[in-house]
Formats: sequence, structure tokens, C-alpha cells
Amino acid sequence: MTLKGRTAVITGSNSGIGLGIAWELARAGADVVLNSFTDNDEDHELARTIAGETGVAARYVRADMSKGEDCRALIAEAGRCDILVNNAGIQHVAPIDEFPVEKWDAIIAINLNSAFHTTAAALPMMRKAGWGRVINIASAHGLTASPFKSAYIAAKHGLVGMTKTVALETAEEPITANAICPGYVLTPLVEAQIPATMKEYGMDRESVIRNVMLARQPSKQFATVEQLGGTAVFLCSDAAAQITGTTISVDGGWTAL
Ligand code: NAD
Repeated sequence: MTLKGRTAVITGSNSGIGLGIAWELARAGADVVLNSFTDNDEDHELARTIAGETGVAARYVRADMSKGEDCRALIAEAGRCDILVNNAGIQHVAPIDEFPVEKWDAIIAINLNSAFHTTAAALPMMRKAGWGRVINIASAHGLTASPFKSAYIAAKHGLVGMTKTVALETAEEPITANAICPGYVLTPLVEAQIPATMKEYGMDRESVIRNVMLARQPSKQFATVEQLGGTAVFLCSDAAAQITGTTISVDGGWTAL
């Protein structure tokens, strides 16, 4: 299977899962547009490295996914978007009655609203090209809940719901929309939670990983960014042409519990 001739736009892809997905889509032959809200040399260097190692066209476009106009401008700047991966996301953990309003607003904007704006901007391009894939990176927390993550869980459940609607609106076209629901993946987003959790529970790093983070992940292993990239590539394959409006869990059994 080759994605040669396709262009993929991956939001929030200068680190973690988004970058892993960009690598796998590029290895499968797609040109890739990387994104985040920064505009550092390292961001552009990532695109040059992917282009150099895979031979595809790769570039980095700065756009802040907390702003609707930036989301739409990212797609316009890409010029073409056959594969849209809505991946940008942030987290904040606090009881709902203490949840900072600005954190709630930022999480809903980046984790949910951005996908509305990018999808609205990208669908006309997919229709014009006669093929498209919308891949939303939700979470096990798009299907289940945990305490203290109200904004994240609301956003991810919302993203799963929006995925189903996009699938129905495009059902008769050669376009699919699906959500990937990862369990824990050891990315900077998760790594950043380890020191505070060690302090909170008085545990060492290994105990936090096994007994707190992976407590609900029966495999007791993190999913990897390469596995998530492989899942995205599969969703772009012909074998997945009739898979639409659904979720694919990559969570070591979390949602089977
Ligand atoms: P990460 O922190 O490594 O990556 C997040 C990406 O989003 C980064 O590239 C960051 O620059 C970008 N980003 C943040 N704010 C942005 C903004 N305003 N505009 C543009 N880009 C922005 O985290 P990750 O773990 O790779 O998370 C990626 C996605 O996967 C998120 O949506 C997250 O909710 C989801 N997810 C992660 C896990 C996990 O265990 N790591 C599990 C389930 C779902």
C-alpha cells in the first residue's frame, strides 16, 4: 500500500503521538504537513528530517489550534488535505469545582473545537480530490471517564461524537471519519505527569507507571507512537474503506474491563 500522492495534515505534530503518526504516514508515502503553535528551528528541522529519510515532501506550518482562524488557515496553507489527523491536545487535572475556567476553555478549544474548524476547512478539499480520511485522536477517555479530568473527558467524548456525525455526512462519498482511542502512551504529555504523581502517592517512578498509570491498562504496557502511526496508516488503506464513524481502541485492553 502506498499513500504516494496524498497529503496529510497532522495537528500538534512536533512531538509525541502526532509526530509518530507523521513519521508512519511519511514512511507509507504521504507528503506531510507538521504543525504546532511554536515556530522554532527545531520544528522545521523535524520536517527536513522526515523529508530526508523518507523522500516525501514535508513541511512545518505554525498555527495555534486554540484559535479557530488559525485552524482554518493551517488547512488553507497546506493547500491540499487528503488525510486530516486531528491530534493536538492538552491536559489539566483538577476537581471540577476547582477547575480553572481558562484551562477548561483551552482544553475544549484545542482538543475539540480545533477539529471542527480543520474538518470544516478540509472536507471541501477531500471532495475535490475524490478521496479523504479524517482521523481524530480521541482517547480511552473518549469512551470512559476518570475523576479530575472533566474538560479532557468532555472534549474527547465530544470528539468521538463529532467523528460519527462527519462519517454520516460523508457516508456516500469516498471519505471516512474515525477516531483512534489510545490508552496510555509514554509521550511528553504523560511524562510530565510522573513527577507530581510520584510526590502525591509517595511512590517511585516504576510504581507510579505500573500501579497508577497502567492500573487500568491490563497489558501493563504503554502503547507506542509507532503503533498509533500504524493504525492511522491502516485507516488510510483500501481495507479500511468501509470503516467509518467508529472508534479503534489501542489501549492494551483498558476498555474491555
Ligand atoms: P504531546 O504533548 O507530546 O503532544 C501534543 C501536541 O499538541 C504537541 O505537538 C503540542 O505542541 C501540540 N499542541 C498543544 N497545544 C497546541 C496548540 N494550541 N496549537 C497547536 N498544537 C498544540 O502529547 P501526546 O501524548 O502526543 O498527545 C497527542 C494527542 O493524543 C492528544 O490529543 C492527547 O489527548 C491524545 N492522547 C494521548 C495519550 C497519551 O497517553 N499520551 C492517550 C490518549 C490520547
